[in-house]
Order: sequence, then C-alpha cells, then structure tokens
Amino acid sequence: MASRNSSAADWLECERVLDRVAGAVRGVLGSGRVPDQIPALASADPHVFGLAVATVEGEVHGVGEWRQRFSIQSISKVFTLALAIEKDGEALWTRVGREPSGTSFNSLVQLEQERGIPRNPFINAGALVVTDRLLTLTGDACGAVERFLRTECACPEIASDEAVASSEAEHGDRNAALAHFVASYGNLENPVGRVLDHYVRHCAIAMSCAELALAGGFLARHGVRRDGSRLVSRSDAKRINAVMLTCGTYDAAGEFAYRVGVPAKSGIAGGILAIIPGRCSLCVWSPGLDNKGNSIAGIAALDAFTTLTGWSVF
Ligand code: GLN
Repeated sequence: MASRNSSAADWLECERVLDRVAGAVRGVLGSGRVPDQIPALASADPHVFGLAVATVEGEVHGVGEWRQRFSIQSISKVFTLALAIEKDGEALWTRVGREPSGTSFNSLVQLEQERGIPRNPFINAGALVVTDRLLTLTGDACGAVERFLRTECACPEIASDEAVASSEAEHGDRNAALAHFVASYGNLENPVGRVLDHYVRHCAIAMSCAELALAGGFLARHGVRRDGSRLVSRSDAKRINAVMLTCGTYDAAGEFAYRVGVPAKSGIAGGILAIIPGRCSLCVWSPGLDNKGNSIAGIAALDAFTTLTGWSVF
C-alpha cells in the first residue's frame, strides 16, 4: 500500500492490509464495555468489527461489517463543526475553545471555571454550542448535517434513527445540565430544548463505515468535497484535523496520537473516523469501549493500519 494512486494493484495490496488489520484485532474483539447511557445502543454486540478506507479519489474498500449501519454519535461533531465554519468562519471560536479538556466528554467541571466557554467543539458542551450556532445559521442543524452526509455518500436514505434519538433524549439529564449551564453564561442563542433536540438527532444518524469514510473525505482532500467543490478552506481543513488530533478522542487524545498518529473522532457507539490528509479517510467500528469512551478494537485496528502502511501525519 505504498503508492498514492489507486490502481488495481494497490487495491489488491489494500485488501491484504485490511485482512492483516482484521487479524490483528481478533484478540481484543469482545473486550470493553458497551455503554448503557443510551439504552437503545446497550444491546450492541462487542464482537462486531468493520473497517472501511476511502481514497481521496473516492474509492472505498473494506473488511468485516463495513457496510452495516450504526449510530455515528459524536462523530457527527466533525460535520457540525465543518458546516458551522463553512457558514460562519472564525466567529465560532469566540464561543468555544480548541484546547484538549483532559476530562471526560460529558464533564461539567471546567464549564464554571471557564465561564460557559467549553474547552473544545468535541466534548459535549462544545458540541452543544456548535449545534446552537448551526441551528441559528441554517434553521435546521440536524437537517443540514443529514443533507451534507447524503450528498457526500450519494445515499439519500441516510437519516437520524428516531428510536435512538428518543432513547437518548429520555436519559439526557447530563447533556441538559451542560446546555443549561452554557445558557446561564449567555452562550446559547436558541432555547435549550431545541438545541438538545437537534444535538441528539444528529448524534443518532445511522451510517456504515463505508459511508462515514466517504463523508470524511473532504478532510483528506484539504477541504474539497467529493464533487470537487470546496466546503472549507485548506487552512480550515488543517485546523479541523488539528482539533481532531488533539481533542477527538477526549482525554485519551495523547495516547491515541502516540499509538495511531492521525486526526480522528470517536463516537460512543464504537465508531472512529480517522483522516490521513492527502491519502484517505477511514472509519472503523466495534462497540466495545475503553474507560475513556473509545472503541478498543477500533484503536487497535487504526494502530495496525498506520503501522502496516507507514501512513500518519508524523
Ligand atoms: N450522544 C452522546 C452523548 O451526548 C455522544 C457521546 C459520544 O459519542 N461520546 O452522550
């Protein structure tokens, strides 16, 4: 998998790499815990594993359950951030920071000290602020994310799973607390209930590894969408990738950068979207999580992939 061009020979080579990655994670499949804070996701099988790679040219290859849909959860935060930056540029950064938090994704502790300005857009408090901004800018934050994803994947049926969204909404006291706290500092423009509704719905969008790898392709193409049009500037794509690297796996971002060495964003249903700028975007899925909320087999697979290919940002 040494060449940048996607010739047939490269794809045969890619297939071999993906088979070796699948072999490398076999020993950890089934380990970890499946989270129970969203009851509709609690029955997921931790033995499931899928991995898809999309080249910058838009070709996709995969192994395991790479075509099965799952709940994208916090991976949606990459798309809300990109769409808010596309529409609003730098203005967003007055309302949310871009430093790693060093705390769990749903922690309340820093918000009071930092007067309602969340540390970064990938912890829940920060994502709520981004969703709020996108809601103001579009009138329909979840719809804007769904439309973008459908177009990038050429897949009109991509949608939020209503059962997952209502399950999270019914058990969403922690996110409601975060949103009210942010609002108490004047850092929400829309009513808390509306922001939470759009937030749980974009988290509940169901997609496969193949679809997520394609949808993340604009970050591998330095801001350019699949149809050749530009979503964000080259600089903004670099910045989004940088925030993914430093904050995308929460308080495990240092260890993830050490092991894997690429920008990535994880979700609580076991997905991880990873970007290798100029080359490809990848998505891996396996529901067993470590104590930081990241997929154990997912990290092992990305570790094996970047080690076998020698591809990383370092
Ligand atoms: N919807 C989930 C929540 O807000 C997303 C968390 C995650 O994927 N880490 O708790």
